[in-house]
Amino acid sequence: MQSYLCDETVVTVRPKPAENVVVVKPANSQEISEILKLANQEKTPVFIRGGGTGLCGGAIPTKDGLLISMERLNKVVEMDVDNLMITVESRRNPGGYSQGGGQCRAVLSPPSR
Ligand SMILES: Cc1cc2nc3c(=O)[nH]c(=O)nc-3n(C[C@H](O)[C@H](O)[C@H](O)COP(=O)(O)OP(=O)(O)OC[C@H]3O[C@@H](n4cnc5c(N)ncnc54)[C@H](O)[C@@H]3O)c2cc1C
Repeated sequence: MQSYLCDETVVTVRPKPAENVVVVKPANSQEISEILKLANQEKTPVFIRGGGTGLCGGAIPTKDGLLISMERLNKVVEMDVDNLMITVESRRNPGGYSQGGGQCRAVLSPPSR
């Protein structure tokens, strides 16, 4: 749980997290929508977390409420190799593309590989 209550903000200025936080890990936009409807209905504060590498405390839940972690939204939606475009879900790590498939490797890896 502790790892969800901080980001990469310098410790001396990092906001203090709230004590009563529930982490939810939706798998798709439909689930996010349902969570937000419920939070809105109950007037529950919501915080969104991507990778938690932000440097200004934005992902730290500073009020009791819900922390929505995007960690399960990590898929490649579309690879358009011809146009060098890739569409990914919110939490897809950029480091993974060259391992994702033969098409992508041809585009992104150095020529010697
Ligand atoms: C070592 C290091 C190097 C860095 N280098 C760079 C760099 O070169 N360039 C650069 O721009 N930044 C850099 N950063 C800063 C940081 O990595 C970026 O700001 C990064 O984009 C944060 O992404 P995250 O998913 O970790 O966001 P988080 O820290 O999880 O969140 C950041 C903010 O975005 C919100 N958020 C996250 N996901 C969503 C979502 N799906 N929908 C709505 N809101 C959302 C959060 O609520 C929060 O307010 C670096 C950080 C570190 C620690």
